[in-house]
Amino acid sequence: MTKRVIECNICGEPLSAATDDELLGQVVQHIESEHPDSGVDEEQAREMITREAYDAGDA
Ligand SMILES: [Zn+2]
Repeated sequence: MTKRVIECNICGEPLSAATDDELLGQVVQHIESEHPDSGVDEEQAREMITREAYDAGDA
């Protein structure tokens, strides 16, 4: 089983989810709680996932 992983553009924290849609939710939630002043909105988070998310196996 693989999962989708992305590292936060701002702090580098890895975020992971089963699908890109769930990953988008993780990123949006992370940015709202950790980087509320970053100005990153859902559309930018989606682009970030499109460009940078990768598959990772469950260890
Ligand atoms: Zn972050």
